[in-house]
Formats: sequence, structure tokens, C-alpha cells
Amino acid sequence: MNRLLQNMNPQQQEGIQAVDGPVLLLAGAGSGKTRVITHRIAYLIEERGVLPDSILAVTFTNKAAKEMAERVEKILNHNSLAKPTLATFHSFCVRVLRRDIEALQINGKGLTRAFAIYDETDQQAVVKTALKRLSIDDKTLKPRVVLGRISWAKNHMIDPQQYFLASANPMEEKIAHVFEIYKKELLKANALDFDDLLLETVRLLKSSAEVRERYNRRYRYLLIDEYQDTNHPQYELMTLLAGPEKNVCVVGDEDQSIYSWRGADIKNILEFEKDFPNVRTIRLEQNYRSTQVILEGASAVVAQNTQRKGKTLWTAREGGSLIGYYEAPDGENEALFVADHIRKYLREADGQEGLPRCAVLYRTNSQSRLVEEALRRYNIQYHMVGGFSFYDRAEVKDLLSYMKLALNPHDSIALGRVINSPVRGIGKTTLETLERMALSSGMSTWDAIGAAIKDKLLPPRALTALGNFRRLIEDARAMLEPDFAEKLSADVAGDASLPEGVAEQSEDVSFGFGAASDGELAIAAATEDTGADTSFDTSFNFGFDFGPTEEMSTIAPENAANSDSSQGIDSASFNPFASVASKTKHDKKFPSIVSRRDEETSTPSEVSTSEDRPAFRNPGDPATLPELIKFLNDRSGYIRALEEEATPEAFSRIENLKELANAASDAQERGETLHEFLDHAALISDADSYSEEARVTLMTLHAAKGLEFPLVFMTGMEEGLFPSSRTMVDPTGLEEERRLCYVGMTRAMDTLVMTRARYRRRYGNDMPESSVPSRFLEEVPSRLMEDLGSPAARPQFSTSDYDSGYRGAYATPYPKANRFGSKNFDEGERHYNYEDEDQSGERASRSSSTGKTSANRSMDNIA
Ligand code: ATP
Ligand code: MG
Repeated sequence: MNRLLQNMNPQQQEGIQAVDGPVLLLAGAGSGKTRVITHRIAYLIEERGVLPDSILAVTFTNKAAKEMAERVEKILNHNSLAKPTLATFHSFCVRVLRRDIEALQINGKGLTRAFAIYDETDQQAVVKTALKRLSIDDKTLKPRVVLGRISWAKNHMIDPQQYFLASANPMEEKIAHVFEIYKKELLKANALDFDDLLLETVRLLKSSAEVRERYNRRYRYLLIDEYQDTNHPQYELMTLLAGPEKNVCVVGDEDQSIYSWRGADIKNILEFEKDFPNVRTIRLEQNYRSTQVILEGASAVVAQNTQRKGKTLWTAREGGSLIGYYEAPDGENEALFVADHIRKYLREADGQEGLPRCAVLYRTNSQSRLVEEALRRYNIQYHMVGGFSFYDRAEVKDLLSYMKLALNPHDSIALGRVINSPVRGIGKTTLETLERMALSSGMSTWDAIGAAIKDKLLPPRALTALGNFRRLIEDARAMLEPDFAEKLSADVAGDASLPEGVAEQSEDVSFGFGAASDGELAIAAATEDTGADTSFDTSFNFGFDFGPTEEMSTIAPENAANSDSSQGIDSASFNPFASVASKTKHDKKFPSIVSRRDEETSTPSEVSTSEDRPAFRNPGDPATLPELIKFLNDRSGYIRALEEEATPEAFSRIENLKELANAASDAQERGETLHEFLDHAALISDADSYSEEARVTLMTLHAAKGLEFPLVFMTGMEEGLFPSSRTMVDPTGLEEERRLCYVGMTRAMDTLVMTRARYRRRYGNDMPESSVPSRFLEEVPSRLMEDLGSPAARPQFSTSDYDSGYRGAYATPYPKANRFGSKNFDEGERHYNYEDEDQSGERASRSSSTGKTSANRSMDNIA
């Protein structure tokens, strides 16, 4: 038998050998689909004498393409000059367009081969120009929102005119107009955005028979991995490239379709059978990756979905260790548990055959922070997929820049970074003018702003925008000074008046003792310049207080906590608008939470009430780190801009910002100053822990697609996190989350461990919120799971209960407890009790009985 067919089951052999005509290979996770593709490529070259460069294989990521290239090379065992083309859809399109885009020109007009590729920043600039031209305020219609719609339209192959015809409201009509201008502008600039790369290639291959035929002659064998995640333009591209020979092999698994938000369409699988009538459909049923326990567990979860064909998968790897479950008291402990588990695993694997590898998977990138910190404490090298480490992410850097400016507004780099982020109408020209002013006079950019405002050196619009920005930074600076609240109120009361009705809109009973007043002050300040529409921007809604006033400090914390939130509000000396505020608070005619943002996005548990906000500062103390962060997030409009963008990326950015607030809370507990916090952040972004050879990989569940690891951790198995709260109400969204869970579980070869934190800090709240176990945990049959020694402090149930009453136990919400001292959740239990054994050379502190908080301990070890 041909060596390429050896060790392959009959269905796989069929998939490898059926090289003529269309093949649809549909099979579950770990059944060897990708292996069939690589072997098929080798088979074509070695057995059929096909020229390597007439093979085109498309993968979902560049990494996968690279990996496949390596695999093929290894199988072929020789290094021929010609190589098959292994690419992603986008990289392939760039290749085609760089060569042939001019075939789309009409009468010498159109894009040239020197076209630019516009990234998101460029795209935004174009949209802004369009908005300006249409006299649409970019506050009412955010460029990011418009871009999201444009991208959606493009990926559904809807052009501006069709968009206009289908638009249901004036807003949509406006977007259609912007879309039209956007399109023309890009053409003028000889530029393509990412979506265009695909669309223009499709258009090219459709419109020019000559070009299409050339590519059909060139690429005679087409292979596509992860076919379930192709979107419509990709599907069209595939059919065009398949040409008359239709030697196309697509492999996929509908249970692993996890990119519908990018326009991936399950219909592509069904359409394939229609468009390629003589398709040979092959199903693989043996899973070679996972143990029976893991496979059964994953299959049971995905079986809950209704939108699926259903399939059988079996594995010869009978038994296997049970799926581990660990219920941590909190996120820190969860991360420590994972790190400790990994340490043991790596040590045990030492000296054994094969490279030990493991992965820590999570739903959103922001969850990496705690795991990263725990691994650092154990001195375990890790590799993080998904680009950057937490502190390198753009939004995190932006927020850190705001914090730097609060300390030092003359930091021009930080200033340049955020002066117009989020977009606030301070354009390139303004910044350039300011920088020129600064350069010629030797001032900092910050001082140049002051001069420009004082002497009215810029157009009024720019001056207004700069004034707002300056006030934002100044207010943040004021927060760092003692008695800042009073200073702030005195400051603003001097030069601002409260427009009618604004205070009522901004009424917020979630604030205890006088906090709302600051929000209103800020509103007054902002509305002065920008009009009432921005009033929502500035209403604080995070439920943090600016510290009790003198009067309020007489209320003991425990009384304050139980008292009506209106208490202390009538402190007229503190709040010039107190009468308005207290009136609305007593009336309670408004809903308790007023911010539009909160109404849209917060789950009730995210909204704090006076009860869960201890008065943790002495009167007159500077703002705490979390307070500062929340202030900046809110007042800068950063989070709101992301919320309006409403793309999955934007939501994950929001999560990152919230996570930064959590980091700040931790730092606050360690007693760090803002300076120390910023230094810590700067040091942690050093790439020192980055290693390609690291045996530990951290990544999101999405990024794990197609990969496999002997040991896999799935962390944060909590309702609202996974499934994500945004998808929980929508059945199709929920099914996609479940598929994502299936993808995650089926990455594991030998061992799968799922963890959950009983309390998780959300958005820097002082008190972590209690979580509800992910429904996916409950969907795994209990006989397949074992408890890995979750510490106490949970409802008592014996091992037998665990089997029979598992669901019941989970269904019961845990009593609301306070980590600062409740009966069933005491400080000592927050630590993962790692084994007391010799770990020479390790920095990790092993004490769980020193009485130090884990936060203190992590400080010891990070420093
Ligand atoms: P996914 O759906 O997760 O992308 P897949 O179907 O692409 O999975 P592969 O990654 O190709 O599956 O294969 C899973 C594992 O099983 C790999 O380690 C692969 O080498 C192994 N494998 C596949 N087929 C066989 C076989 N016939 N004999 C031995 N091992 C196999
Ligand atoms: Mg695969």
C-alpha cells in the first residue's frame, strides 16, 4: 500500500485518493480532516505527479497555513523547488490583486497594482470625511458603527444602492450615503480595505474570463480547511477558482462553526452539494485525538444543539481520565490552580517521551491576565496566541496613557495616543499645529493646548474639543490630589451653569452619599461646550463614590451601607446642584439606573447599589486606582464608543478595559500607588515570558480551532462569561457558544480540566460577584466528571450527591457572601492550597497559612 495511505482508515483513504472532482468531507472534531488535506496534497504530488504549484490549499489563519506547509514538507520528505500555495483567503487575494487588479480598470480608470491596503484607522478617517461632507455629526453616527455596517453589507455583497433601498430608517439611509462616499474615496485613494480584498478578487474573477481561466489553469487542485467558517464572498471565490474541472476538496464540521458573526454561513455547506451536483461526500467517524471520556463529554454538550445534522464519532482510546472540574473561590485562585496543575504536569512529563504541551483556553482575551500572572509566579514560560499580552493591547495602552497623563500631562506620547481616542473631533491637523507650536516655542504639547485655548489660535470647533479634553485630564489630575472632590466642585461651579433638565437626566440613585453630584458637575462642564446630547457621556454610572464628605464621614460605614442612598446628598456645601439631585432622588420617579449605557449593557449584577460599596477611603484622600480608571473610562467616552461599535472585537476590548480596572483593584489592595501600578504594567509587557518553544499556550477558544493538546484547561466556565451574556438570550447565539464549547473540549487529547470561579471580580468592583456555573458544565454527564478538590466554602454535598445531585447543587445560587469576611467564605480559603513540597529554584510562594492575602504574595513574586 502506498505509504501515504498507510495508517489511514478507509474513509480517509477515500478522501486522499478521490482527487478528481468535488469532494465534501464532513466530519467531527479530531477525525483527521486536516490530516486528510495534508496527505492529499502529498498524494497529488507524489502519486499523481501533479506539479506542486498547481495546488492551492486555503486555511483559516496564517499560522495554520504555515503549519500545513511544514507538515506537507515532512511527509514528502524532500525539498522540491516548487511548492504548493498554502494561504489564507486574504493573503491569496492580495497575491491575485497585486498581479491582476488592473484587469478591472475601465478605460484606464480604476485601481492599480500599487493599491494601498487600508487598515481600520485609515478606514475611520475616510468615514469621518464622508460624515463631514454630509454634515452628519460623528457623535450621532459613530465612524466605527458605520464601518461595522459597511463591512456587514460588503460581506453580504450588498452595495450602497441596495443598502439604501433596504434601509428602514433615516439612520440607515445616512449610512448608505456614507457607504457610497466611502467607496468612492477608496477608489480615489487607490485603496482597498480588508473586505475589498476578497470582494474585488471575486469581482475580478467574475468579470474577466481571461484572468479567471488563467487561475483555473494554474490552480488545478483546490483544498479548503475549516470550510464551515467561510463566508459568502469566500464561497464565491472558491466556486470561481474551482473552474470547470472542479477538483475541489472542502473539509469541515458544522458543529465547529464559530464565526457566524463574521458572516460565515452554514448554508455554504448545503450550497456546496447543490453547486457541485456530482460531489462525493465523505464522512469520517473515528476520532483519533481524544479519549473516550473527553469525546463523550464533548458530544453530549453539542448534542443539546438543535441546529445540527448530528453524527456519530467514536474513538479507540477507551476510557481515559475523567474530565476534571475545579471550582475556585475566585479568579485568582482559579489561575493559581491552573498554574500549579501545569507545573506538576510539566514536571511529571519530564523525561517521558514526547513534548509535553498544554493549553489554557478562555472565552475572552481579558481572562488571560490572571493566568499570566499566576504562570509568572511559578516561573513557567508560556506563549500567548492572539497577539499581545494583556498590557500590550491598544485599548489597555490607551487607558494607561490616560492614567499617565493624569500624573504627567506633558507626556506627549501618551497625549498623542489618546487626544483623539476615542474620536472627539481633534483631527490630525489640529494635533500637527499643536506639535508645531510646541516645537517652535519649546512647550510641551499640553502647554501648547493651553496657549491655543487662551489665545484662540485654532478654529472654534477644535478649541471646544481641546477644551473638553483638557478638562478631562485636569479632572483626572484633581482626583489624585487630596480633597480632590471639593476642589473639583469648587472649580467647576465657578464657570459652569447647569442647563435645564440635565440634572434630572443624570439622576442616579445607584450612588450613595453624594457621588452623583460629581457626575452632574461633570455634565454641567461638558454640556457647556458640547450641548445636551453629551450629557449621558459624563454621567457616572459605575456606582463608585468620590469619598464621603465631611458630613458623610460621620455615618459609620455599616450604617451608610444600609442607609437610603439619599442620605448625605443634601450637603449643599459639597454639591452646588444638591437641591436638584436630592429632589429627584426622593421622588424616585426615574428608573434607578439612568445611563443609557447601563440600560443597554449592564446585567443587573453589574450595577452596584449603595449596599455593596463600602466606604473604603477616608475623607479627603485622593481617589483610588479603580476610581480613577472608572472615571477615565467613563468621562473619556472610551467604553461608550466601543459599546456603540457593538462588534465582538469591541466587546472584547471592553472586557479588557474592565479587566484593567480589576488589575487596579488588586494593585490597590496591595497598596500600590499609581506610579507603581504603571511601572508594573510597563514591566509586564516585556516580552520576557514569550517563547515560541513554550510548552504552555494561552489563547481564546476561537483561536484554538484546529489545534490539539494533551492537556487542556477551559477556564471561566460561568454563565455570562461562557456562554457570554450577549448570547444567552438568543437561541442561535447560544448554539454558537455551545459549538465553541465543543471546539474547546475537543482540543484535549488526554486530559481536560474545566474550571470556574465562584466569585469573580467584574469591572474592578470591590467585591467579586458570585457566578452561576456554565450550563455547559451541566450538559456534561456527571459520570464523566470528577471534582479536583475544589476547596470548601460551597454548599456541602457528599460524593454521592455529586453524582446524583450535581445539577441541583449547581442550580442553587450560593449565598451572597463577602470576601472580606463572611461565614462561608473566609480570606484563608481564597488561596489555592498548593502542595508543600520542595520546589528549588521556584519563586512561587507556597504559603497558604501566612495570613497574607494572595495579592500580597503575588506582589512578592512579581517584583
Ligand atoms: P479538527 O476538527 O479539530 O480540525 P481534524 O478532523 O482536522 O480535527 P486532525 O487534526 O487532522 O483532525 O487529526 C486529529 C489527530 O488525529 C491528529 O493528531 C492526527 O494526526 C490524528 N490522526 C488522524 N487520523 C489518524 C489515523 N488514521 N491514524 C492515527 N492518527 C490519526
Ligand atoms: Mg482540522
